Amino acid sequence: MDLIRINNVKKQYKNGVTAINNLNLSIKKGDFVFIIGGSGSGKSTLIKMLYREEKPTLGEIIVGGVNVAKLRNRKVYVLRRKLGIVFQDYRLLPKQNVYENVAFALEIIGAKKEEIRRKTLKAIEMVGLKSKIHNYPDQLSGGEQQRVAIARAIVNNPKLLICDEPTGNLDPERSKEIMDILEAINKEMGTTIIMATHDKDIVNRMKKRVVALKDGRLVKDVEKGGYCSEAI
Ligand code: ADP
Repeated sequence: MDLIRINNVKKQYKNGVTAINNLNLSIKKGDFVFIIGGSGSGKSTLIKMLYREEKPTLGEIIVGGVNVAKLRNRKVYVLRRKLGIVFQDYRLLPKQNVYENVAFALEIIGAKKEEIRRKTLKAIEMVGLKSKIHNYPDQLSGGEQQRVAIARAIVNNPKLLICDEPTGNLDPERSKEIMDILEAINKEMGTTIIMATHDKDIVNRMKKRVVALKDGRLVKDVEKGGYCSEAI
């Protein structure tokens, strides 16, 4: 079953730049997909349209049966609750410790205290940070901060985890730890993962589906692929 369908999507920004052009793409439930391409190829624009940070100029974006292009602004929160999002720059709350940063995602949806505790501890365990639960972000390495951000993104068991250059600020060793965690989430929780990256080594090693963009167009879509020259 398709979790995501992108039909004839075009995105033109107000300044006239066409960031995505005539894009068609289906992503099945449980898939792990890399979105690759050089700087300016449209990766971030595509990802932002999935969580409705941007709207397409033309076409449909169906996420879990809902056309998010048509979603009313006041309904966007319903979509966001079904997604986890991880950014390159972690975006943790600096004055909250690891536990509080992760629990926050459940508190804002009004979960019960016991449920918050159980799910928060499980998510923190999933990213291997139980021993740092009381640390504040400035007492963690970059890799550990990104692991907290991943725990926060998965704490409510979303169907879809969207990652925009999650290893962009990390060295190869820390990046590998992040990728091992994402792979475990995909396998053990069945979470569909879409990750924009231009890290060649990661893409080549993981052997997942690779969707390559160039100038806003799809130039390659392969199962178990590697980084391809078309996209560089
Ligand atoms: P990538 O993530 O692959 O680097 P982007 O989606 O950020 O690519 O950008 C694709 C194109 O759209 C680029 O030409 C970029 O300059 C342009 N662009 C991105 N965001 C905006 C914006 N908010 N307003 C105008 N142009 C934008």
